[in-house]
Amino acid sequence: MSYILVIAAVLLLLNTYPLIVSEDMMFRSKETTLQSSVSVMVYSLAGLDQLDEENVAAAIAGVEETGLSRILVTDNAGRVLYDTRETGNAVGEYAVYTEIVQALLGNDAFTSEYRSGAFRSRAASPVLYHNQIIGAVYAYEYDTEQAALLEGLQSNLLRLSAVIGVGVLLLSALLSRALTRKIEELLLAIRQVREGAYSHRAEIRGRDEIAQIGQEFNSLTDRLQTTESARRRFVSDASHELKTPLAAIRLLTDSILQTEDIDRETAREFVSDIGAEAERLSRITEDLLRLTRLDSGVLEPPAVVEGMPVLEKVMRMMSLVAQEKGVDLTYEAAGACTVLATRDEIYQVIYNLTDNAVKYTAAPGAAQVSLRREGGWVVLVVSDNGVGIPEEDIPRIFERFYRVDKARSRAAGGTGLGLSIVSDTVCRRGGTVEAANRPGGGAVFTVRWPWREGGEGA
Ligand code: ADP
Repeated sequence: MSYILVIAAVLLLLNTYPLIVSEDMMFRSKETTLQSSVSVMVYSLAGLDQLDEENVAAAIAGVEETGLSRILVTDNAGRVLYDTRETGNAVGEYAVYTEIVQALLGNDAFTSEYRSGAFRSRAASPVLYHNQIIGAVYAYEYDTEQAALLEGLQSNLLRLSAVIGVGVLLLSALLSRALTRKIEELLLAIRQVREGAYSHRAEIRGRDEIAQIGQEFNSLTDRLQTTESARRRFVSDASHELKTPLAAIRLLTDSILQTEDIDRETAREFVSDIGAEAERLSRITEDLLRLTRLDSGVLEPPAVVEGMPVLEKVMRMMSLVAQEKGVDLTYEAAGACTVLATRDEIYQVIYNLTDNAVKYTAAPGAAQVSLRREGGWVVLVVSDNGVGIPEEDIPRIFERFYRVDKARSRAAGGTGLGLSIVSDTVCRRGGTVEAANRPGGGAVFTVRWPWREGGEGA
């Protein structure tokens, strides 16, 4: 519609402006030719001290213009002395045309109008004798020839406009249909995806803006689909993880209730198993809550934190666990390992990695932790000489609930969420985590945080 309006405005301009300009040009050419004809006649009357019918007729006869429809000569009172018109000849009458009145007042007068297919032009000039106005010459021209030219131009323009108008209408109908079809396809895709059909894609051909929006929409839907399937997997994995300890608790309580005369020792054993399962449940829920907080993006405001004291705190706690398991846990740390994060985050990362190193290393084994600064990074390396990780599993171990060996992880009290918490925590602060196997056996995890010059709180 807007295109059609613009084109209509252009066509209107095309149909009026050239006509106005050519009409104006014609008026101007009429003015010059008519006035020069009048001048010639005025000139022929020059030298006469008084005008009368005879001397005017004699003077004019030689210079009378043929193309004019009427020539009038009046005396200074406006009485007609000479008139070329045969029927309705006005000789002897008073001619009170505006132009003649103007001429008798001493001015050259000209008017022209274009009406019903003809130009009607009138010009008049005074006749002077010794600076005295002794009469006026008036010429009238009725021209249909030039008017026909103008009309020809007008009808040509109209025809041209009609052709352009029809062309534009057809073209805009075609274009708008193509455009509407694409928009409809896009709308359909948006509605389908909104209703949950995440596999639906908009199929828009071409390279125009709508096609580009379609492609952007498709890649947005790709991401949505990935996120949605990750969410579904997460929910189903989480429910499964929660179901297992709950089922065990249920089984244990049923056994206690159903066994008559249960001896104290067995009951104690069952209750302690229930306790262990409850602890597992609380570990899983804690980890889930931690991940949800990370997902929501609402993080505690970070500060510049020195890593060494945090590492020492984890080591004090973990060395007892390692000693009990028969794993030799050693660490080294240099100062000035300052990063922009929170103490809890750094604690969680070091704890989870060290806990894994001890968990997945059989006695007698060894685990090393080191924290140092390398250029613009603070690097934490946790390595062990345990079971290691099969190469094909390395890319997946940071996924939620992913475990290489489910039974081993469960037996060791793992939730399958430790590494995803590490990776999310570190990435949120602009860092990276990598996992690899050591050539001699065992795994090595490398965390890099961007180094921040030490300040308060360090
Ligand atoms: P989990 O609670 O099962 O330890 P994580 O997310 O911490 O879960 O680790 C995911 C999996 O990665 C573990 O189940 C284990 O198979 C593997 N893994 C993690 N750390 C080590 C390690 N130091 N050595 C060998 N395998 C490891």
